[in-house]
Amino acid sequence: MRLISLLNHYQRYPGFVYENARLCRESQTIEISVRPRRGSRPVCSGCDRPATAYDHLSLRRFEFVPLWGCIVVLLYHMRRVDCRTCGVRVETVPWGVGKHQLTKAYMLFLAHWARKLSWQETARSFRSTWEKVCQSVEYVVQWGLEHRQLSSIAAIGVDEIQYARGHKYLTLVYQIEHQCTRLLWIGRERTTESFAEFFTLIGAELAGKIEFVCSDMWQPYLTVIRERCSQAIHILDRFHIVAKMNLALDQVRAAEARRLLRDGYEPVLKKTRWCVLKRKANLTEHQRFRLRDLLRYNLQTARAYLLKEDFQQLWDYQSPQWAGKFLDEWCAQVMRSRIEPMKKVARTLRSHRGLLLNYFRAKKQLSSGVVEGLNNKAKLTMRKSFGFRTFRVTEIALYHALGRLPEPDVAHRFY
Ligand SMILES: [Zn+2]
Repeated sequence: MRLISLLNHYQRYPGFVYENARLCRESQTIEISVRPRRGSRPVCSGCDRPATAYDHLSLRRFEFVPLWGCIVVLLYHMRRVDCRTCGVRVETVPWGVGKHQLTKAYMLFLAHWARKLSWQETARSFRSTWEKVCQSVEYVVQWGLEHRQLSSIAAIGVDEIQYARGHKYLTLVYQIEHQCTRLLWIGRERTTESFAEFFTLIGAELAGKIEFVCSDMWQPYLTVIRERCSQAIHILDRFHIVAKMNLALDQVRAAEARRLLRDGYEPVLKKTRWCVLKRKANLTEHQRFRLRDLLRYNLQTARAYLLKEDFQQLWDYQSPQWAGKFLDEWCAQVMRSRIEPMKKVARTLRSHRGLLLNYFRAKKQLSSGVVEGLNNKAKLTMRKSFGFRTFRVTEIALYHALGRLPEPDVAHRFY
């Protein structure tokens, strides 16, 4: 049989040979029998050493990478060994992992595609099921977590993300260096306890080598960083500050729009949301026109918008001193403005002044764009993944997409 000699040539496992292939037309399945090579000794699953064969178990089916649209199954009678150290044990086979029904090669194959397609699409494309894709990703992620290198982390960013509809949050810790950006850790909730677990995982020695930490203004994070990573320069994330500012501006605009409507004025604020929130450079011709028009009115929204635009200058400073001076002046101006949401932002910035200026002390080496980019990717992963409801599944999906984990080796890659 041609297929058999082909397989024996390209997808060989030492100690085993393919013997027989059978195509079942009805179920479009190719079944391939595998047997131990004559004279080869089984390997004990307890200690990974060769041992004497003891007996056979019933036939087991292992799903292999599909060929020509057919499901491929390896059939094999697992042997039990009589090991000198472990006693009677099931043997370990090079294509399988533990009790998994899928072969290693197939799990790697599915996990590879699950990174490009949604899990549902992956299952459909290869005539598998969502559960099997999930198992595959879980195997690859677990292997990767056990074999990854955590030494020498110089800069981390911490952020929270909402998941599973409703107000559930995860804490995500990223490594954010130029050479290496990856997801390091995922914690349930966004409490001091959950974030502290990350530092427990890496240990005090590694935590002591971290030079920069980037975070938002969430108090539990600030507390943990102060306690567990006090030697690092702690930087407030630029991206979160801009987001806070936009949120305040939007509140001002929405409240004012309601007020104008109620008092029977011209609805000048209608459909201006993106005109004021978008960056100036990204506005369309029409939006730019609307904005210019809007700024002519004596509105709170217009004043708040100008304050926000003014604030952008901060990021151009080089020295922390001058940046600090600018910040103080800006805050003082806002406090006189009588626009409550903006005043709230100014108060927050004032109370985190030191952390904010650390951005300039770190010589702006860390661009907040990295955290923002990773966060967007995390959100995309979760959106692509209908079916991710539990923490466990969300966790492995995120590690798989963003963890840059090492992968187990296989005899032959199918992708
Ligand atoms: Zn053993």
